[in-house]
Amino acid sequence: MSIFAVIDPATGHTLAEYPGASDAQIEQALAAADSAYRGWARGSTVAERAALAHRAAELMLERKDELAAIITREMGKPPAAAEGEVEFAAAITDAFATHGEEWLADESLAVEDGLRTFFRYQGIGVILGIMPWNFPYYQVARFAAPNLVLGNTIVLKHSEQCPESALALESIFRDAGFPEGAYVNVFASHAQISTIIADDRLQGVSLTGSERAGAIIGEQAGRALKKCVLELGGSDPFIVLDTDDLDHAVQHAVIGRMENSGQACNGSKRIIVLDAYFDAFAEKFAAAIGAQSYDAGDYGPLSSAQATKTLTAQVQGALDQGAELLVGDNAPEGNRYTPSVLTRITPEMDVYSQELFGPVAQLYRVASDDEAIALANSSPYGLGSVIICDDVERAERVGDRLEVGMVFINGAGIEGPDVPFGGVKKSGFGRELGRVGMLEFANKKLFRFAEK
Ligand code: NAD
Repeated sequence: MSIFAVIDPATGHTLAEYPGASDAQIEQALAAADSAYRGWARGSTVAERAALAHRAAELMLERKDELAAIITREMGKPPAAAEGEVEFAAAITDAFATHGEEWLADESLAVEDGLRTFFRYQGIGVILGIMPWNFPYYQVARFAAPNLVLGNTIVLKHSEQCPESALALESIFRDAGFPEGAYVNVFASHAQISTIIADDRLQGVSLTGSERAGAIIGEQAGRALKKCVLELGGSDPFIVLDTDDLDHAVQHAVIGRMENSGQACNGSKRIIVLDAYFDAFAEKFAAAIGAQSYDAGDYGPLSSAQATKTLTAQVQGALDQGAELLVGDNAPEGNRYTPSVLTRITPEMDVYSQELFGPVAQLYRVASDDEAIALANSSPYGLGSVIICDDVERAERVGDRLEVGMVFINGAGIEGPDVPFGGVKKSGFGRELGRVGMLEFANKKLFRFAEK
């Protein structure tokens, strides 16, 4: 059987299979991307490439219904959320098109000797993107758009369960006018990925995925002396310090935990609540999580039978070790997993340091800001965080002490198409989105003019 297949998570039915690439196809992909870099990318302006990216964004919106239906089949995203993802991917692509010239403009440096000195930002060559299934369009947009506008070309290896979204994206970039070789999709095996990374025509690799894959790709990139960006897992804290609007806190904890049926890297996976609010919060939060409706499309099936098996085993392990479910039953029907709240978790339990990739919140009680910070920082991950507090200066002080890449104050889900994204610790390194993301794979070429 092919390793690339569409298996509908709602039914378990295999809907389509796609053959993996031959070694000759991998070679052709690299040759085409390298040639497009040397010809088209080096020979075009940022404005010209931005115009193509702008067109790609338009095409995403024109094809929204078709694109959304693909990911509902591939990974179970409910239709409204799938359409929302397409719109966000288009907005990201358009943000790079709109800001490309400004973000890539020469940057002069104030240097002690006063000589005219500046950075010019240019592409470096072919970049490999390795992408996960959980946001099939959004993840690719935030990698492909900045690199193409910058003047890199890309080889894209999507998740094995996303072959149709992978092909749909490749068509969009081609139909937008990007030439042959600028954006090449490959149905590569993991062994072929390793060959691509070692190839001298490749200049960088960006992986979004699990900690396990990150360690492997990081090692391969290091061995081949290639720059890499790793966007990995997370177990983000959602900290409730002080509020006169507990309903708002509960609403955002639900948004933070339930986004993408609980399968978001920066989902609010650990809800940490100060004593004074804990009992009232726990009651309202458990009720709100319990009220989530599969039929109304609040959440969809987990992405695959394997994902369901993994989550169920993790929760069962926690229950065996003494944790309790406030709501939920850890008894999925197919891949339909009832949203749950897990409490009475202690540091000795395995689940304490694990990422739960599904609609299961861990709920913790703490006695002080210091205790909330210590608990938040005890995770091996460091992606994002949310702090709920009416006193925003106190929230900022707490955020200042968190070992994370992002601090959202008083709201979950406030990402934006031009707002940088990324983490620290085992959540990886590097950033995507915004100017900082666009410069990850740039040659920061220094110009300096001597006095005559
Ligand atoms: P995964 O690591 O299993 O797969 C991600 C990609 O890496 C896939 O294309 C897969 O084929 C590839 N891959 C895996 N092992 C590989 C190997 N040995 N060699 C070459 N390629 C390999 O992750 P997933 O299950 O698809 O995605 C979920 C994970 O992604 C979660 O941990 C989630 O938190 C994380 N994620 C992180 C971010 C972020 O921005 N930090 C965003 C989305 C998802």
